[in-house]
Amino acid sequence: MIDYRKHFPYDQIRPEQEEVLKQIAEHWGDKKYFILQLDVGTGKSGIAKTVANWSNDAFIITETKQLQEQYVHDFGTDKEFVSIKGKANYQCNKNGRLNCENGPCTLRKAAGSMPPCMNTCKYYALRKRALASHTVLTSYAYIFRAFDCAGFWKPRQLMAFDECHLIEDQLVNFASFEINPDELDRTYGLFDNCENRAKELVPFTDTGWEQNKERFKRVFQYICAKREELWAMLQEELGDVKPEELDEDTLDSMNSTHKLYYKIDKLYKKMDVFFNQRKDNWIISPNVTDGSLQFTPLFVDSLFNQFCNNWAEKFLFMSATILDIDGFIKDLGINKDDCLVIKMESTFDPNKSPIYFMPCGSMSYQNIDESLPKACDAVKVILNKKKDEKGIIHTGNYKVAKTIYDNVKDSRLLMKATEEITNQNLIKVHERSQNTVLLSPSMTTGVDLRDDLSRFQVIVKMPFSSLADPRIKKKSELSSDWYACQMLKTLVQACGRSTRSAEDFSSTFVLDSSFAYWINKYKKWLPKQFLARLRGVTLT
Ligand code: SF4
Repeated sequence: MIDYRKHFPYDQIRPEQEEVLKQIAEHWGDKKYFILQLDVGTGKSGIAKTVANWSNDAFIITETKQLQEQYVHDFGTDKEFVSIKGKANYQCNKNGRLNCENGPCTLRKAAGSMPPCMNTCKYYALRKRALASHTVLTSYAYIFRAFDCAGFWKPRQLMAFDECHLIEDQLVNFASFEINPDELDRTYGLFDNCENRAKELVPFTDTGWEQNKERFKRVFQYICAKREELWAMLQEELGDVKPEELDEDTLDSMNSTHKLYYKIDKLYKKMDVFFNQRKDNWIISPNVTDGSLQFTPLFVDSLFNQFCNNWAEKFLFMSATILDIDGFIKDLGINKDDCLVIKMESTFDPNKSPIYFMPCGSMSYQNIDESLPKACDAVKVILNKKKDEKGIIHTGNYKVAKTIYDNVKDSRLLMKATEEITNQNLIKVHERSQNTVLLSPSMTTGVDLRDDLSRFQVIVKMPFSSLADPRIKKKSELSSDWYACQMLKTLVQACGRSTRSAEDFSSTFVLDSSFAYWINKYKKWLPKQFLARLRGVTLT
């Protein structure tokens, strides 16, 4: 059996890590997919790094840049462990106003060779190191694109997905696109030379592939032609000069054409992916607001197969909230017999982070107007009780956040006033303040409010995804379990924002009266430690 201890990156191995690694090592020869539901505090990054070390040929894939940086912080980087992000994150040496995504070297495509500055280029130097390393640390977005363009990257022994409960969303985001005739025409003059331009500008109104097939293919032809035209313009402007020898002024003047080319090339590639997919597996629906046609994959099994499954021998899926593991296996279209499932509960004391059920009425669409005033009163009581502490209120959506903000009228509440303010900006203000309380529908995941940054949290509404999204609606119709699972993942994640270590503590208050129903209905999926935190809910 593999000597996993030899590959463990720290001096001390925790009992939970030891148990997980032992099971993986035992089944390394006979399983392909290792699905690990590891609750907070089980040290999953140490497990991923160990398996990557023994594989000696791995990708570790994270969802956010923060998580990627956390790995770098924990393990450092060297020639064997290289962290790489998308080209847009690196500045081009040739022109400080460009990034490596639109650096002049990209104009060399046709020539097939690369410029001398490639050796000192931040991105290309890093990619060279990454290709030679035994473990590449990167993001979902980077890896799907890299595999789509293929070429440099080769399959590896291991692909480890951290926060794997997000893989479905990541694949959907990667493959989704829209055709907006009006915008395409304004940006590119796409239909300038059409015989009947007015016909092409008519907003999309029909749903489905058959109804839109003919027009889609026509738009695709226009996009191909425009893409080629922009490329030819760039090559003409370039003339006989090598891209790296262009002066700053010429580069600047070419820059806008280059950006346009890059944007249309991205759309072209997405349309090309779609052409290779089964059309009945896609939601194709018009957006009545802007007349565009939206393309969204309903299922992700074929995308997983195309962009992941052939890129590694073994797969490690890790998350605290996969919950419906059978559904996860089915969604990715992988064989259950090839999977080893390991669940590890949190070692945090449930008494240090109780979840109090304070029902204020149903927050369903039909009842929310009646229940929200009661929820506002409950928020006032909680804020008064916790007047010297920082906290967070998870609202489920912006409408609820705004109602609470307007009715509770408490200067401690911190809510995003405009779209320009990011969650990170808001958290920075919160960090510097005395007893502020974050009020947000979008801080349920990826936010670390450790210790005094949050001693209490409020869940106003069960965080169901909006049924206004055609894909969510369709999938909820096909499987109510899937829809409930999406909500429960967000709920469990939200309940984990304020207790971040074994020493940390916080209280959670849930105001939506349907909480008890959902917990009871799906308790088989929920981590035992989560259930042990509940106060005031009778488990039947
Ligand atoms: S290879 Fe050269 S031109 Fe291309 S992005 Fe890097 S520094 Fe810029």
